[in-house]
Amino acid sequence: MMLNRFRFWVNNKVIQSPWGADFVYKFAYHVNWIANSLRDKSAKFFAVKPAELASVQSAQIGSYVLVGTTNICNAKCAFCAYPRAVENGTLETGVMTMPVFQKIVSEWAKNGGDHLDFTPVVGDPLIDPSLIEKIKFAHEAGIPRISFTTNGILLNHHDNYKKLVDLKVSMIYISIGATDEAQYKLIYGVNQYQKVISGLRNLLEYNRQNGEPVYVNIRFRNAQRPSEILTSEDFMKYIKPFISAKVEVNFTVDFDNWGGTIRQEELPGVMRLRKPRPEIKIPCTSLFGFAIRHDGSVRLCGCRMKSSDLDDLVVGNVNEQSLEEISASAKTKSIIDGFYRGERPETCKSCTLYTPVTRSWLKGRRAANSRRQVKK
Ligand code: SF4
Ligand code: SF4
Repeated sequence: MMLNRFRFWVNNKVIQSPWGADFVYKFAYHVNWIANSLRDKSAKFFAVKPAELASVQSAQIGSYVLVGTTNICNAKCAFCAYPRAVENGTLETGVMTMPVFQKIVSEWAKNGGDHLDFTPVVGDPLIDPSLIEKIKFAHEAGIPRISFTTNGILLNHHDNYKKLVDLKVSMIYISIGATDEAQYKLIYGVNQYQKVISGLRNLLEYNRQNGEPVYVNIRFRNAQRPSEILTSEDFMKYIKPFISAKVEVNFTVDFDNWGGTIRQEELPGVMRLRKPRPEIKIPCTSLFGFAIRHDGSVRLCGCRMKSSDLDDLVVGNVNEQSLEEISASAKTKSIIDGFYRGERPETCKSCTLYTPVTRSWLKGRRAANSRRQVKK
């Protein structure tokens, strides 16, 4: 509660002082770099041993599972590998069938899982025509926390914004480029700004009318300085009136390179790529964020791909084995252990989103496991 109030206070301060936000934004890039460097050092000097990681390897131990029910997207973001993969014909796309989804959810709920995130590695969850039906099924199966990230283009489609609020989805993260058409097109590569801002306004208004059951986080993937967005007409009119403890806004300080796919010169305006990191021989925390693709393939890392999400991070398929078996398998262990030998999957080589496992991460994963045991 205290933390929520503090976050709201900080958020509010930033919104109220646009030029202060620019100041913080400028320095945050360097602060992030220092924080990442310190994390690398801590991960290296207080290294978590392979046996300790093996004890928390199973997906059953984590607090959430990522189920990307589609990898189709309706945007072409400058900072994402998706448009490049589509242009090169390297991405096989599709939508998850209801039976595959039901199988995953039933297993996850039975094992005490309480959080399901619909965000795919690439793609927009609202493209899935049966997303609403799938959310209902997950709730009925006993999973209380549902979240996802969307570009918001389809929020108005079939009154999706109303259905999501009525279903009391826990968290919706809106990824948006700007609050004007030209900037939006520059970053998202499509002429959909009016749909996004109208859908977002409707979502915020309907959520407020219903007592804010949904936490909404508006994440700007901005090419402008924060002050230009915070003082824009559309921000003042459609977003600012709804800012609250349940509706937050933030700006992206640095962008990662999708395993070397994105280059600095491709990013417009103030967008900056993270600096490359030294390769340390410790596994990445994202390897424990088991992500299920629309065809049932289970992939270690729900965050990034290079040219395809059917790559060397795929370790099995839920149509053949349970998620528990796949996540605890020798194949999964060999990818994780490979990091200790300096052998990384292609996708992970030069990935600037790499986040090494630390002692505090291990503690958090064990705590999540204890909570699940209590729930079971
Ligand atoms: S960042 Fe998201 S919205 Fe943009 S192209 Fe990639 S998958 Fe689509
Ligand atoms: S290094 Fe990058 S691609 Fe590999 S698991 Fe981590 S975040 Fe994912």
